[in-house]
Amino acid sequence: MSSLSSKIQDVFNEPGCGKNQAKSEKERKKGCTKQLQPGGAAGGCAFDGAKIALQPITDVAHLVHGPIACEGNSWDNRGSKSSGSNLWRTGFTTDINETDVVFGGEKRLFKSIKEIIEKYDPPAVFVYQTCVPAMIGDDIEAVCKAASKKFGKPVVPVNSPGFVGPKNLGNKLAGEALLDYVIGTEEPEYTTPYDINIIGEYNLSGELWQVKPLLDELGIRILACISGDAKYRDIACAHRARAAMMVCSKSMINIARKMEERYGIPFFEGSFYGIGDTSDALRQISRLLIERGAPAELMERTEALIAREEARAWAAIEPYKKRLTGKKVLLITGGVKSWSVVAALQESGMEVVGTSVKKSTKEDKERIKQLMGEDAHMIEDMTPREMYKMLKEAKADIMLSGGRSQFVALKAKVPWLDINQERHHAYMGYVGMVELVKEIDKALYNPVWEQVRKRAPWEESTWEDVADSAIAAEAAALAANPELAREKRRSTLVCNCKSVLRGAIEDAIVEYGLTTADAVSEKTLAGTGCGSCKGKLEKILETMDHWHPDAGNAAAQAQQAA
Ligand code: SF4
Repeated sequence: MSSLSSKIQDVFNEPGCGKNQAKSEKERKKGCTKQLQPGGAAGGCAFDGAKIALQPITDVAHLVHGPIACEGNSWDNRGSKSSGSNLWRTGFTTDINETDVVFGGEKRLFKSIKEIIEKYDPPAVFVYQTCVPAMIGDDIEAVCKAASKKFGKPVVPVNSPGFVGPKNLGNKLAGEALLDYVIGTEEPEYTTPYDINIIGEYNLSGELWQVKPLLDELGIRILACISGDAKYRDIACAHRARAAMMVCSKSMINIARKMEERYGIPFFEGSFYGIGDTSDALRQISRLLIERGAPAELMERTEALIAREEARAWAAIEPYKKRLTGKKVLLITGGVKSWSVVAALQESGMEVVGTSVKKSTKEDKERIKQLMGEDAHMIEDMTPREMYKMLKEAKADIMLSGGRSQFVALKAKVPWLDINQERHHAYMGYVGMVELVKEIDKALYNPVWEQVRKRAPWEESTWEDVADSAIAAEAAALAANPELAREKRRSTLVCNCKSVLRGAIEDAIVEYGLTTADAVSEKTLAGTGCGSCKGKLEKILETMDHWHPDAGNAAAQAQQAA
């Protein structure tokens, strides 16, 4: 097994991953390491994920070994901020060409590293592997090793070519590069009982700086933030922290878990979004530090700070609360911490009518259920058309999502606010919560919505009228013709990877009396590709749990469910 394959196998066997824990031994072996299906990297390839995870290390030169398009694809696509060096925002690429493809690109890579060190003298160079050089067999590990020796500087290979998988895998492979080549390679000038690491936090729009003053006031030092606003040396010294907070479990759980194993640094998963979650996170940090030897009075100071900050935040939110209470939000975060944002929105009096859980773990979903109730509308995956329909039907007053789905909200003439990584406002901590409330209020009460919802004087019917009547006509046709409705339902594509239609799944459930998503996967292959449709399988099973092959005509039952 090549070193990259074994690394990927290792990453997927993550014992700390909730999804992995839920699998059987057999599934764990075959599951995530399966050959990727076309479209598996849609939304970001593994290289992209690795670059996103490490680029916020501000004083490092990030060199992309590959055609220029790979760097173009990933350069500056997150709004991370730096309090010091800006070298991280300079795009470096070897820009390999046809000649390199024929003769190999290793020499060009070595020369590029040399040029960067001579011109910029960074504390380290990170070299990212991409598809083309990986396929022609360029050994970036060997080149980095030789360059490191020659120039007396850390040159770190980040072996995560795009084709190995999606963005999330790349995040983890980036973490592996830090564990293998950076963490533990330097010693801090001094240590204190108040040193922590924050893992999986990227300082988007500078939001880490909304929390740092709170930690500073408590005397807690962020020894390393991986990787928002980090410097190379911070990360090299991270092994001396007393405790760690893991912010994004999906992207960097391997770092948190392995640092606990290697260096005995305990960690917890927390969030700085929302008033309650921020307070909980501060308490947890203090608790872990006290357990590791910090004076017990730290907790008293933490509680005093929480009481003061909560009071300030509630006072700042109060004037908005009246305007926001009862407003309905559709939340499509695309991120994993939907529960955290749900809690934050509920704190401001808003009602969340639906939230995406595509990238959420089982635990995340449980937390959402606790917050929103058993009937929580959790969305696994949604086409723009479904989103449009839901905005209209659920009568959401505002949609919070990433930039890609903004046009659906704008077409539905519903206010929209960017909540994903490209956002320009910082929402972390108490101050961030107030900022979020202000931004929602601004978006909701912007007078432009009243204007755009009006029909132009020359229009007989707007395009929405046409679309709405087409949707209504389709629904009426289906209601009037159960056979047509059944056909439509059965022809819905459930598993994109294996091209499995809902009809085949329903037939298998009825024929074999299947009761679990795994059993459905085994019989139909649905869910055996990227696995993202497993939630849909569970939903189908839920709607069919009263079905049984002996209970009468299966077709008639299917018709009923339509
Ligand atoms: S690494 Fe591969 S998949 Fe990713 S941008 Fe480059 S060529 Fe595309």
